[in-house]
Amino acid sequence: MIPFLDLKTLNAPYEQELIQASTEVIQSGWYIHGGACQNFEKEFADFCGTEHCIGVANGLDALTLIFSAYKEMGILHDGDEVIVPANTYIASILAISQNDLKPVLVEPDIHTYNLDPSQIEAKITSKTKAIMAVHLYGQTANMQEINKIAKKHNLKVIEDSAQAHGAMYDGKLSGNLADASGFSFYPGKNLGALGDGGAVTTNDKVLADTIRALGNYGSHKKYENLYKGVNSRLDEMQAALLNVKLKHLDRDTQRRREIADFYLENINNKNIILPRVENKESHVWHLFVVRADNREKLQKFLLENEIQSMIHYPIPPHKQEAYKEWKDISFPITEKIHAEVLSIPMSPVLTEEQTTKIVAVLNRYEAN
Ligand SMILES: *Cc1c(COP(=O)(O)O)cnc(C)c1O
Repeated sequence: MIPFLDLKTLNAPYEQELIQASTEVIQSGWYIHGGACQNFEKEFADFCGTEHCIGVANGLDALTLIFSAYKEMGILHDGDEVIVPANTYIASILAISQNDLKPVLVEPDIHTYNLDPSQIEAKITSKTKAIMAVHLYGQTANMQEINKIAKKHNLKVIEDSAQAHGAMYDGKLSGNLADASGFSFYPGKNLGALGDGGAVTTNDKVLADTIRALGNYGSHKKYENLYKGVNSRLDEMQAALLNVKLKHLDRDTQRRREIADFYLENINNKNIILPRVENKESHVWHLFVVRADNREKLQKFLLENEIQSMIHYPIPPHKQEAYKEWKDISFPITEKIHAEVLSIPMSPVLTEEQTTKIVAVLNRYEAN
């Protein structure tokens, strides 16, 4: 069986370095917000090209804390509207609604699966205060258009970079393409810890300081609390492991791009729609997502041929029980995407034998 994602094999080449890094944490005697955490924040800010990086507990917290901080800063208020793509992973939307802000869903572009800038302005009202751009599946959203619209309407732009570590747009990396960006280091992400982790990157010092305090009980200074904060810190052990993984991220991304090129050049089955790439640098291939009319049949065919696949995502947020207030709204493009997408194996440790087999099996698939 070719697994969809084999994290054990993925982490195996770094095992000695990871063990060394954890030993250093154990022997340091400093287990929260120590040297490894500081070091990672500096390295990751340098990597993204931003002035600030704040480690937090996970990707959802990274996004949630950005909105909470804007509220503490008086930039956002209860009930303000935030534009967000309707086909994103639910976490992007939870970060908005958990702050008593109103997510306003917008249809994506059917080819890139990212926010369609031409659909944004129709959704802007006097209450709209921000846009969340999600770099879905690892490809950067159309930031030039999104930032232009935001500037015209005086809106904040927040990136959901949870799937797009290292993706480049107009010479800058994701994390540095808007006012603030949230990252996840969930183990399966392109930069994955061996547990939970997340970070915010930004060039806004006030925002960075506010997020840092909010994630630490609302405290800027020990035992002085400015805000009703939360406990959301990047774990010291995970930070140490991330320092190891970050050094290898560019090489992993390169390998993902080679595999994607191989898939794009060699899969040619008229029943399978391949992803559209705007620009090679702009995609880091967190997922390689194809579309097919009868997706369940394709998935079954792959499984019969010992290839695992996954669906990202089977149910759109507006059809989830959690957001039942949206159940009567229709988003045809989003619904079509959710009905047709299938993610085939994509990871830096896939072998040539595996990718060759995946291509051959996909080319053999008959829809009828
Ligand atoms: C993974 C993910 C998140 C949430 O990250 P966690 O670390 O799992 O909380 C948010 N947005 C997107 C698009 C994601 O893929």
